[in-house]
Amino acid sequence: MELKDCEFWFVVGSQHLYGPEVLATVEKRAKEMADKMNASKRLPCRIVYKTTVKTPEDATETVLAANYEAKCAGLVVWCHTFSPSKMWLNGLKLLQKPYLHLATQYNVSIPDKGIDMDFMNLNQAAHGDREHGFIAARLGTPRKIVAGHWKDKAVLDRIGGWMRAAAGARFSRNLKVMRFGDNMRNVAVTEGDKVGVQEKLGWQVNTWPVGLLAERINAVTDREADALVAKYRSLYPFNTKNTAAVRYQAKEEIAMKRLLEEEGCRAFANTFEDLYGMEQLPGLATQRLMAQGYGYGAEGDWKTAALTAVVKAMGEGGSGGTTFMEDYTYELAKGRECTLGAHMLEVCPTIAAGRPKVEVHPLGIGGKADPARLVFEGRPGDAIVLSLIDMGGRCRLVCQDVKVIKPIYKMPNLPVARVMWKPAPDLATGVECWIRAGGAHHTVLTYDVTAEQMADWARIMGVEFVHITKDTTPESLEKELFFSDVAWRLGGK
Ligand code: MN
Repeated sequence: MELKDCEFWFVVGSQHLYGPEVLATVEKRAKEMADKMNASKRLPCRIVYKTTVKTPEDATETVLAANYEAKCAGLVVWCHTFSPSKMWLNGLKLLQKPYLHLATQYNVSIPDKGIDMDFMNLNQAAHGDREHGFIAARLGTPRKIVAGHWKDKAVLDRIGGWMRAAAGARFSRNLKVMRFGDNMRNVAVTEGDKVGVQEKLGWQVNTWPVGLLAERINAVTDREADALVAKYRSLYPFNTKNTAAVRYQAKEEIAMKRLLEEEGCRAFANTFEDLYGMEQLPGLATQRLMAQGYGYGAEGDWKTAALTAVVKAMGEGGSGGTTFMEDYTYELAKGRECTLGAHMLEVCPTIAAGRPKVEVHPLGIGGKADPARLVFEGRPGDAIVLSLIDMGGRCRLVCQDVKVIKPIYKMPNLPVARVMWKPAPDLATGVECWIRAGGAHHTVLTYDVTAEQMADWARIMGVEFVHITKDTTPESLEKELFFSDVAWRLGGK
């Protein structure tokens, strides 16, 4: 529902130089373009023609109105004619919303016989967009730039992808995260500066007592739990006779969801080290909540919990394939190299290849009763893994392209959901690069959101972005990280 709430303002640059007739044509065309872009069905959010900026006052007023309007998730700006950019300077300095510069033009082709100086004055985006681009470069305004014809499918898809990133930024700035228990003792990478993260990303990360959750689990009636167990039975085959264990997970799901809704939280973290008063580590319950769009991070990992929620919101309407994930173990045999990802329990069933099965097995960690969980294989496909780490004074988002494959072993004694993937550019190089960048063992794995969209999101939020691709080499990455570190220490916060 996030994307439906967002609208984007189409703002067109011009000036009074060309007379009222040209300005009337510019406005008419801009409206037509917004209507047709909406009608293309390729944009996840509505684009609304807002105004043609002709004076410095127009630019400033438009920016201030955009900053103020909660529904406005960003500006899409294009210069139909020349639009002198000193006019835009004061306004752009005030801009607090995501900003896309669409370098396009109304017509596809140059009309061979039709072109004269009137045509040139009206259709000079190649001229106007360069003037507009300069001022944003000079000011250092964060922006996305998309060039090409506005009806072109690839152009529309890139605008749409950026809209998802901008909607993700809006979601981030309102995101509340519920913590049950602290981070796992002595673990470094799941730590972080909560005040710094809230300043940068808007995430409000707060703690609720585990004892309160235990009370709320106990307050769920058997009747309520049995109704949910019946729903589980309709969705998943049961590979267990231990219905009591499944019923306890249903109580956990109901209780956690109620608390999350009461507090307006869209993500949560917990830890096996603090399950005081609880009978089982939430497994099936957490998996089910992730499938409903909640972010999750294990071992108190609130950063990954929040990032999972953001990526799920950005991927809304896709296949739904986004999950909390953890790198566990490698296949190093030549020709078969891959990573096995899983978790103790908590992998989101939206990434399942088939129907997940409900199973109950002992859990050696946490010292509690055998928890019910969903067991499945991840589906093959192109995906990315993401890790947000605290570098001290700033966050870095590490992104790696991966190819998820059908697991090459049956692993009948592994009692959890499992995913196998080949990281780019290859396993060994990919691992070297990931470790060089400081990426965590916890990640968000998504099939729905692309690296370009995450780069857009990181730019909007002001977060360092490191992308490991098929073309990355350890040498190039080491240099990139060195220069990036210097730049962020000098200019970042
Ligand atoms: Mn873990």
